Amino acid sequence: MKKRWRHAGLYALLAVVLIAIGTATIPSQQGNGNTPLPMRYSDFIEAVESDQVARVAITSDQRTAQVVENDNSRAVVNLAPDRQLLPLLTSHGVDISVLPEARPPVWQSALLSLALPLLLLGGLFFLLRRSQAGGGNQAMNFGRSKARVQMEPQSQVTFADVAGIESAKLELTEVVDFLKNPDRFTAVGARIPKGVLLVGPPGTGKTLLAKAVAGEAGTPFFSISGSEFVEMFVGVGASRVRDLFEQAKKNAPCIVFIDEIDAVGRQRGAGMGGGNDEREQTLNQLLTEMDGFEGNTGIIIVAATNRPDVLDAALMRPGRFDRQVVVDRPDYQGRLQILGVHARGKTMSKDIDLQKIARRTPGYTGADLANLLNEAAILAARRQLNEISMDEVNDAIERILAGPEKKDRVMSERRKRLVAYHESGHALVGALMPDYDPVQKISIIPRSQAGGLTFFTPSEERMESGLYSRAYLENQMAVALGGRVAEEIVYGEDEVTTGASNDLQQVTRVARQMITRFGMSDRLGPVALGRQQGGMFLGRDIAAERDFSEDTAAVIDEEVKDLVAVAYRRATDVVNRNRAVLDELAELLVERETVDAEELQTLLLERDVRTAEYL
Ligand code: ADP
Ligand code: ZN
Repeated sequence: MKKRWRHAGLYALLAVVLIAIGTATIPSQQGNGNTPLPMRYSDFIEAVESDQVARVAITSDQRTAQVVENDNSRAVVNLAPDRQLLPLLTSHGVDISVLPEARPPVWQSALLSLALPLLLLGGLFFLLRRSQAGGGNQAMNFGRSKARVQMEPQSQVTFADVAGIESAKLELTEVVDFLKNPDRFTAVGARIPKGVLLVGPPGTGKTLLAKAVAGEAGTPFFSISGSEFVEMFVGVGASRVRDLFEQAKKNAPCIVFIDEIDAVGRQRGAGMGGGNDEREQTLNQLLTEMDGFEGNTGIIIVAATNRPDVLDAALMRPGRFDRQVVVDRPDYQGRLQILGVHARGKTMSKDIDLQKIARRTPGYTGADLANLLNEAAILAARRQLNEISMDEVNDAIERILAGPEKKDRVMSERRKRLVAYHESGHALVGALMPDYDPVQKISIIPRSQAGGLTFFTPSEERMESGLYSRAYLENQMAVALGGRVAEEIVYGEDEVTTGASNDLQQVTRVARQMITRFGMSDRLGPVALGRQQGGMFLGRDIAAERDFSEDTAAVIDEEVKDLVAVAYRRATDVVNRNRAVLDELAELLVERETVDAEELQTLLLERDVRTAEYL
């Protein structure tokens, strides 16, 4: 089902692209037979060498050239960065001219207007072919672009730029020593490690850490991403690995950083989809290279992944990536320090309280925090302020969570009231559930997708441990249903809106996970159903294979329904019992548009509220 939909999506896109092409080509009325044909660079060189080329006109950026052959046929060629080209052309007596920059010839702009849709079309075609043939091993010639190995002769990053991941830093300090004084270690017969594997979620600072090692040791930094190997065609990945190590050897001592190594280094034979040959060849080449140099050559390979579980065991053998360093999401102290690093160089108002920000951001990675302060700075600049204040930071947090506010979108009084009731429902159920996250803010200002929003502050402990109790999950479902329930109670069942569709999706997802993943079903017991392959790269979720019978599937569906029904009853119960407070809260929202944690607390304290019960 899912698969069919994916293809349907592709075809739809294809249709759009076709329409785009239709419109893009209309203005270019150069329909005569003189349109130059594209020519491959190698064919072009061959033609020059066999004296078939009369003239070339090179664009001022030296990327393409118009070619006129002796028989007057014309072609366009994309030029490679080739220093030999001019000498070659002159030695074969080719007439060379350079096209003026200002006015590109009509054919060129026509070509440009075609280029984007064509590229898209080509890409789509390729995707379709791949997904149908189940493999990318057809040796196609295009795409053989130059290796994207990046080299920084001298990394500017130091350990001072990396914060909040102290233990990882400590372990890598040793690597700096290896690079700086290899003799000290070899003198006593110590084997210097060749590879260090950094394991952690994206954005936690793995790249930063690797750069800092190079920066501290004063060595060059080479980097490439594993995903770039697998995009290629057979043989290219392996030759890139060879190139990479050749360059590294010339520049030793140095750091070689391979990001997303899981893209190349997955267990052999365990992959899904095509491209296995290529990946295996690349992996084998990598292993060969790693075995081929001695630890004291001064090359240390640092690789990063968030999926250590899928890596081929061969990578982890002694003498390869035998050191693993975990780079985890920062805790409160860590976040505070990272905020400190990124607050440097920004003009902050006195009211900025980094501790408060750190407390509000459990689960944020270093990259998220850097992004947060940057967003706040942008907001301050847009508001023509001289410094960033807590208002900007708070707004940035909400923006990142929920997209920008759309204050100018007009809402009818009736709709505003409905959204106010909906959000009050969420907030009230949340506030009155025993053991649930505290409400941070309620807002009925529309954002990208939502009509309004209720923010909860997740508990640090829960985020960090990743452990959620059954009671918590049950509460979460009730809270998510609170919006719909309030609508029903106030407006009647016939008047409910589509506004709750996200909420309902969330509820179903939680219920399903409780049963199939967390073993929280009474009827099915503590089992995990459906092989969950976790966050495959590219976010593909074709995984979650079914390894249970139709009967079990039916039981799962029933159990999901039961869980949702209980949550629904609890939410209805708590809203009914506190109807007066619901009205008051909704009224407050209509009037002020946002209600914060303190205001809600005051309201709840002043009124006689009744908390929810377990049913
Ligand atoms: P990863 O490689 O783990 O995906 P990056 O190293 O690319 O993460 O992090 C991206 C950016 O986020 C960094 O350039 C830096 O600005 C910020 N960042 C991430 N982690 C940290 C940290 N521990 N200390 C300071 N800044 C960090
Ligand atoms: Zn809702």
